Amino acid sequence: MFVALPTISNPLAGLHAAIDECRAEPVAHFTDGALAEDLLELRRAADRLEAEFARRLERFDRSRGFAAEGAISTASWLRHRCGFSGAAASERVAVARHLAQLPLTADALGRGEIGYDHARVITRTTKSVGDDAMRGAEHILVDAAHRLDPARLQVAADHLRHYLAPERTLHDANVAHDRRALFISPLLDGVFRIDGQLDREGGACLQAALEALLGPRATDDTRTPAQRRADALVELARQRMEAAGGRPHVTLIVAAETLAGSGGATAAELDRAGVVPDQTALRISCDAALSVVTVDGQGRTLEAGRASRTVPPSLRRALAARDRGCRFPGCDRPVGWTDGHHLQHWARGGATRANNLVLLCRRHHRIVHEGGWRLAWGEQGELEAFPP
Ligand SMILES: [Zn+2]
Ligand SMILES: [Zn+2]
Repeated sequence: MFVALPTISNPLAGLHAAIDECRAEPVAHFTDGALAEDLLELRRAADRLEAEFARRLERFDRSRGFAAEGAISTASWLRHRCGFSGAAASERVAVARHLAQLPLTADALGRGEIGYDHARVITRTTKSVGDDAMRGAEHILVDAAHRLDPARLQVAADHLRHYLAPERTLHDANVAHDRRALFISPLLDGVFRIDGQLDREGGACLQAALEALLGPRATDDTRTPAQRRADALVELARQRMEAAGGRPHVTLIVAAETLAGSGGATAAELDRAGVVPDQTALRISCDAALSVVTVDGQGRTLEAGRASRTVPPSLRRALAARDRGCRFPGCDRPVGWTDGHHLQHWARGGATRANNLVLLCRRHHRIVHEGGWRLAWGEQGELEAFPP
């Protein structure tokens, strides 16, 4: 007897065909308005696909489909077969498991009304307060997700969590506090890697302190935001060290010949960090907030433990009154950010006197020494800067 097999339609084949059609469209002549509409539509489609991915993944996870391929968990299967990172794979599994218990959220994501990041906030909150407590409150967050971006939804979710499970909120905060850590690792290529995490209070304090030091961005400032934050962190440390006065902190050990500019002299060393270029040694010793130890050819100490800056306080006050901040053309960094720069380095015969000194902020001091810019007084008594 002939039995007709049911027709198996393959919706995923249609999906790929639609994507191929999109890919074939030339977009060069599209208007910005049309592009914006397309981007919204594509994002919505991607979110809807995430919902479908989660729905099938939950079913796959429940029946331990990974085992058939020799994987040890759904997350490790995702890592190896779908190319997720470890953290992303675990997150997909968690989202899929919770979405199965959150019909309103799954539905809103499946229709593309809320985004995947919204769903992530809701599932993370569920993980924290428990499925039962969330059952009566899910609609509040789904409602909010229609109106708020994920960051604001997170704040709303935190309030809800605090209401539903106050002891859990305290517990989570204590766990987050216990996870605080800071790693500062010198790498072989002479840079330091910083890594770590802070609790909410610590993170907020550090961010506020860095923002206060960053100030508004100058027009000639070509640093990336990440570079500016790194500079602000170092500035925070430097200003703290200077406030601490003459106590021992970071020491530069440098041969007198290096400062004098005779070629082939021993390289300068910064304790804890190792060898630094001659230009850096010159800059640090130009107006040392760090301690500078000068040694002779045999490593014998010539001058040590300079407890105060190279530029004495009285002269520094006079420079502050004259320069009012960084003198590099166009810079407006205040006095507290500056070093005294010797136009002719003291180790090369320059005097530590006002006419041989200008205040430069850390960034411009570096540009002059390590970046090779040359400074000279102009005819109007203005400082002029010449690129290398
Ligand atoms: Zn200098
Ligand atoms: Zn400057």
